[in-house]
Parts: sequence; structure tokens; C-alpha cells
Amino acid sequence: MIEVQNLTFGYSRGTPVLQDWSARFEAGSTTAITGPSGRGKSTLLYLLGLMLRPTAGEVLIEGQPVGNAKDAARAHLRARRFGFVFQDAALDSSRTVLDNVTESALYRGVARRNVEPHALALLQRFGVDVPPDRRPGQVSGGQAQRIALCRALLTNPAILLADEPTGNLDPATTEVVVTALQEHAANGAAVVVVTHSPDVAAACDKQVQL
Ligand code: ADP
Repeated sequence: MIEVQNLTFGYSRGTPVLQDWSARFEAGSTTAITGPSGRGKSTLLYLLGLMLRPTAGEVLIEGQPVGNAKDAARAHLRARRFGFVFQDAALDSSRTVLDNVTESALYRGVARRNVEPHALALLQRFGVDVPPDRRPGQVSGGQAQRIALCRALLTNPAILLADEPTGNLDPATTEVVVTALQEHAANGAAVVVVTHSPDVAAACDKQVQL
């Protein structure tokens, strides 16, 4: 489903963060990316998510090379194919919690009122117990992370990339999130999760250590 071949990437001159690195992330499976801090896990997710361009090598989605496609094509793919949960949640502080969740559908041209019931159901499923008209500045770190996960799942993305999605969560909520990631993969998506949690990594179909 999504694959990287002989990927090399560095932010500047000096030792690259990734060098001649290859891996496949299959549809219908969960993969944990593990490894020490600073090793390049988030960077790999940005490369997979077409937010960075490889210095060398290629990113392929269903066999199609996209690592160096034009910006507009990459943006289109990001909106249509990807869900992304950033480590810091990256919510829009000027919009309500509910609008943050429905935002991903708007990029796909779906009307807000058509997705609001699904957005509310996702917030409930993940136990985000805040009024939907609240702003992201008024929620906890763990709630923000789950709101970002709801936003990523809303459009049922074929590829879900999550950077430490359980980093701020208690064990019970972690289990709810892990189950949701597994279910999303079982529905046919390629799910890639960066995690420091041995339990979360063990719950994935495959582990890749950087
Ligand atoms: P991890 O997710 O494994 O903690 P990162 O991918 O965040 O690792 O970082 C990998 C390396 O790249 C680190 O040495 C980090 O300091 C460096 N790095 C990350 N982001 C940038 C950036 N925007 N500019 C320059 N260097 C960066």
C-alpha cells in the first residue's frame, strides 16, 4: 500500500537522519515504528505523509511514485488518502473542538452538517468529554490528542499515520485508541504508529525499529 525504497533524508549537510532505508506498510495492517528519541521516527512519518521530500529514494503509494510529485498532487493525496495524528495534536486554536474534527472532511468537499453526527460519535467513542463548542486551548493534552485522532479517522483514510497517539493517555484510554487503530486496519487501511510504548508496539502486526 505505502512503501519507501532506498530512502535518504537529511535536514541539512551532515549525517542524514535516514539513509538508504526501505520498508513496506501493507493495507490491512498496523506497524509500530520504535526507536530512541531523535532517531528519525517523526521525520519518517513526515516523509510517508508527503510533508517532506526525500533527498534520495522514493515513496510509493500503491506502486505509484509520489515522493517528488508536484506540490498540488501531494496536497491532493494528503487530503484524499491520509489521516495524520501529529505528536502535538496540531489543532486549530481559532476553531471549536467539533470544527477541528470536521475540518478533514471539508478538505474533501463534504458539507459540515453531513459529517457532524459521525464527528460527535467519534468524540464520544474516545471519551472526549468536553462541550463540542469548546476551543482547543481549553482541553487537556490527552483530550487534544484524541480530538486529533477523531479528525484523522473521520474521513476513513486509506493510510493513517499517528505520532505517539497514546503518549498522554491512561491505560484504559490507550486500549480504546489501540483497538480503534486495529479496527481501522482491519477495514483495509495501512496504519503506521510511532510509539515508545512496548504494549502499543506489541499490539501492532509488525514492529520496525529505527
Ligand atoms: P524522533 O521522532 O525519533 O524523536 P525526529 O524525526 O524528530 O526523531 O528527529 C530526527 C533528527 O532530526 C533529530 O536529530 C532532530 O534533532 C532532527 N530534526 C528534526 N526536525 C528537524 C528540523 N525541522 N530541522 C532540523 N533538524 C531537525
